[in-house]
Amino acid sequence: MTETKIIDGKVFSERLRADIATRVAALKQEKNITPGLAVILVGVDPASEIYVRNKAKQTLEVGMNSYEFKLPDTTTEEELLAKIDELNADPKVHGILVQLPLPKHIKEHAVINRINPDKDVDGFNVVNAGLIATGQARLVPCTPLGCMMMLKDQFASRGAKPLMGLHAVIVGRSNIVGKPMAQLLLKEDCTVTIVHSKTVDLPELVKMADIVVAAVGKAEMVRGDWIKKGAVVIDVGINRQALPDGKTKLVGDVATKECMGIASAITPVPGGVGPMTIACLLENTYQAAKATI
Ligand code: NDP
Repeated sequence: MTETKIIDGKVFSERLRADIATRVAALKQEKNITPGLAVILVGVDPASEIYVRNKAKQTLEVGMNSYEFKLPDTTTEEELLAKIDELNADPKVHGILVQLPLPKHIKEHAVINRINPDKDVDGFNVVNAGLIATGQARLVPCTPLGCMMMLKDQFASRGAKPLMGLHAVIVGRSNIVGKPMAQLLLKEDCTVTIVHSKTVDLPELVKMADIVVAAVGKAEMVRGDWIKKGAVVIDVGINRQALPDGKTKLVGDVATKECMGIASAITPVPGGVGPMTIACLLENTYQAAKATI
């Protein structure tokens, strides 16, 4: 039986944040630049408010400036675009993040594409999506960036290009996770298969993978008997599952317990990919600030 390592995203992200804090201090001292992250939240959504609060706290902790804008859900698209224009023009702001989802009357694409690509720390703007697709990535979506860091670390003993030649199967093809993840893995010379809701024989394809990235949004959909012995499993999913006592718990897209003894390593939910995503937002903000020098 294979011993399955639990990849601790909390510890990994703490290490990354400590490293970012050191680089931020140097940037301040040497170039008199304090990276600034602006987060816009439109409307009232309890989950989004928690994310935004967390982001602001961690931004300040690494020594960056945090600017928070809470706009009412009656905000029009024009008003939101005007706010983005203002932040695009503000030299103190190096990163702009608009918390999704937005109220229905606002077009997400219009908003994301209005953000100056150099300040698009979520990496969702079409310019950044195009750069990543053509192997010229600048600001990379935070979740795939965090997954790549954990994967490279996992295979570090394979040398300078640790993922080269491995077969990665990505379950899910969204613009924010699946597609950019595929581009980043290709850049590292992985063989990449993307599977989705219309894929035939999905379990058989997953079974071929040295690396499985699950980003589906379906609780525990990826089963233990789909996993090849020794594969590394990255579980991006965050799903709230009801318990018999009426409470809920967070579960991923992978049936983690079933993978124990089969996978060589797996990220837990919670405590795996999630903490790395926010740390990578800070990394992107640092990179955006540094690029202004
Ligand atoms: P989307 O809903 O945008 O995309 C889901 C993808 O999964 C789609 O490509 C869809 O296929 C595919 N899919 C859905 N059902 C099936 C199925 N039965 N079989 C195969 N494929 C299927 O989700 P996201 O990419 O935004 O997020 C995925 C998960 O990751 C969610 O749980 C989300 O909460 C979580 N997440 C976690 C983050 C973190 O920081 N940890 C950050 C971002 C997301 P099709 O295209 O054919 O419809």
